[in-house]
Amino acid sequence: MKEIEKLDKDYVLHTYARNYVNFKKGINATLYDDENKDYIDFTSGIAVCSVGHGNKRVADKIYEQVSNITHISNLYVIEPQAKLAKRLAELSGYDIRTFFANSGAEANEGAIKIARTYGETKFANKRYKVITLEHSFHGRTITTVKATGQSSMHQSKFAPYPEGFSYNHTIDDIYNSIDNETVAVMIELVQGEGGVQPFDKEKIQELAKFLKQNDILLIIDEVQTGVYRTGEFLASNLYEIEPDIITLAKGLGGGVPIGAIMTKHKDIFAPGDHGSTFGGNYLVTTAALEVLDILEEVKDSGALDETIIYFNSKLNEVYENNKEIFTANVGLGLMRGLRVKDADTLALLIKTAFDCGVLVLKAGKNTMRLLPALTISKSEIDEGFIRLQKALAKIKA
Ligand SMILES: *Cc1c(COP(=O)(O)O)cnc(C)c1O
Repeated sequence: MKEIEKLDKDYVLHTYARNYVNFKKGINATLYDDENKDYIDFTSGIAVCSVGHGNKRVADKIYEQVSNITHISNLYVIEPQAKLAKRLAELSGYDIRTFFANSGAEANEGAIKIARTYGETKFANKRYKVITLEHSFHGRTITTVKATGQSSMHQSKFAPYPEGFSYNHTIDDIYNSIDNETVAVMIELVQGEGGVQPFDKEKIQELAKFLKQNDILLIIDEVQTGVYRTGEFLASNLYEIEPDIITLAKGLGGGVPIGAIMTKHKDIFAPGDHGSTFGGNYLVTTAALEVLDILEEVKDSGALDETIIYFNSKLNEVYENNKEIFTANVGLGLMRGLRVKDADTLALLIKTAFDCGVLVLKAGKNTMRLLPALTISKSEIDEGFIRLQKALAKIKA
């Protein structure tokens, strides 16, 4: 056993099915291990490293910032935080204010607190129930685990859970499960962990309209879909809806831990209602500002749309050439999945792809998920798919 594997096993709690590759260097969508073997990264740290690994512009901004001030607490105004909040309003096109958290789960916790505050202040009977969907994923805290519509995650050993969460099978089912205590519906527009499942735009628009008419809040969890992952700044922009609350995290900081709760209910909270020690500090908001600058340029120059088209044409080739393994090609933008005929084949494919030097992810039971950096180059895309095709040939042989 390698020394690093022993250290990890001896001292880190065993919550992950860990892969013992020791990455030492990253350049855009390429990683190098301790034996200098290279890997094309189609995962970007699970949609986090939106501007690639080792991004010089972000690194320089972070260095400059932390050489000066890293953190001072939210008791004092934080210039890059205020600027980032303004950028989020501008880029989204919504009239909103933002609270900064440190992760996706924490952002969703805050969104639920906003919804329950709305339910308390707006209605004589306190509305508190939140409807979510099966196969959703909203986080790992006790509340967001309960908000997640996967019974396998509601382990009894963690009980008791907070009340007020129920799950629907489809968007259509939501209408029937609303009652006069329902305060919000919380969904992803493309279910990520659940299997890269985009919802129908018209159905989402109808739902948004119905909820608005009935004064029920629409919370869109954009922790994975947000920050240009689907091709627009927000998936909500792509779906042309105006949610009450939107949460962000993964791709926003390009690798630094940051979460955001954006809401048009701009005065819902008063001082003391919510807070975070680290949330929105100098380090993370400086990094996120630079990430947004880079991604806005990538989008406005047309490069992002080109990358999406190129990546998806290559992906579709692999899909068409391997129909005995793949059953569907799903996703939006650079949030892609290929459904694999069964879970065992998927596990073998991910392992073989790794051996061939390309990193891919699993989602749901049987989806191979691809979430490349939004700055991935053509040659990295070419090389990644050559390696993936090699892995497919191996498992078919
Ligand atoms: C990853 C994810 C989360 C949880 O984010 P963490 O930063 O791991 O807490 C929540 N919602 C969605 C849609 C996600 O993809």
